[in-house]
Amino acid sequence: MSSDHFSSLSQTLLMGPGPSCVPEQVYTALSRPTIGHLDPRFIAIMDEIKERLQTLMQTDNRLTIPVSGTGSAGMETCFVNLIEKDDPVLICKNGVFGMRMEDVATRLGAAVDVVEFDWGTPVEVDALRSKLAEKAYKIVAVVHAETSTGVMNPVAEIGALLKGCDSLYLVDCVTSLGGMEVNVDEWNIDAIYSGTQKCLSCPPGLAPISFSAKAIEALQARQSKVPNWYLDLNMIVNYWQGQQRAYHHTAPINMLYGLYAALGVILEEGMDQVFDRHRRVHEYLVAGLEEMGLSMAVAAESRLPMLNAVAVPEGVDEAELRRRLLQEHDIEIGAGLGVLAGKIWRVGLMGHTARQENVDRLLQGLKILL
Ligand code: PLP
Repeated sequence: MSSDHFSSLSQTLLMGPGPSCVPEQVYTALSRPTIGHLDPRFIAIMDEIKERLQTLMQTDNRLTIPVSGTGSAGMETCFVNLIEKDDPVLICKNGVFGMRMEDVATRLGAAVDVVEFDWGTPVEVDALRSKLAEKAYKIVAVVHAETSTGVMNPVAEIGALLKGCDSLYLVDCVTSLGGMEVNVDEWNIDAIYSGTQKCLSCPPGLAPISFSAKAIEALQARQSKVPNWYLDLNMIVNYWQGQQRAYHHTAPINMLYGLYAALGVILEEGMDQVFDRHRRVHEYLVAGLEEMGLSMAVAAESRLPMLNAVAVPEGVDEAELRRRLLQEHDIEIGAGLGVLAGKIWRVGLMGHTARQENVDRLLQGLKILL
């Protein structure tokens, strides 16, 4: 069989919206021997992954596990386990992933309301407060790091607003986890999901999630069965917790080795040091871009460190520039999505990618091409 496809693969510098560059320790872990998924040695790894995720998410939630599937599987897991038909759900929407939440919740038969903000601007807490004064919601959902626009939403402030109210607080931290603080317990988050291929710097394939005691109560109080067998947490927990593990599905064993190593890399560097590195490298990128006459598409106070939306200058063919960056410099950056298509580039500084030397390489490439 020909291996031509593999021989053309290079260590492309991944500076798009994900996947990000993968450190050597994670590649090594992925290639460790596959063992049985109920082997006690594998269960020991599963248990430590849960602990490492609890540390990174800053939570004591016992139900903190990686779901088999990409970030969208994490989104589905949170919604499908918590929503029953006609449940009132409020979604904050200011980009593609808020839109995806709306789609997922609507398909599950929820009565979905949306509080919408311009793409490129953050969720406004006051507007949300007014909306919440009008009606009680079972779930209020928001995306922490809106990857489609580069905007950081005020997840901690919304958590404070929801404190003491009956609503479940559901948060997407696909792009933020591992690149900036995510504090599940302090921010009153009840259900949260992430993905491996962004700031965790592990290839795509797993979706860490965490459910609070309040979310588990809501799950247990359901009148109807969770309408999705694969993502039903009632069964999945018996695979991830307790003395006797019950087979549910065959875990993606080597992917979990990869996640275990990726979390180890972050915790070894130190969470604060990792978040600080993301912020510093982001500032270095912004300074370099501005020096070249380029400008950022998001106001400074709402910018994400790990996803930088750069305005495409007048008269530049943005797709051609991305094509040449990839072909001639082996650097990938992302295009704009939805209403921002053609208007921005999305430069990712996620996890292992977030290093000054990578920014230097990108700036050099941009200087040549522009
Ligand atoms: N949520 C956000 C904020 C994302 O950026 C993404 C992916 O880019 C997703 C959800 C979906 O994750 P995946 O593409 O891994 O299914």
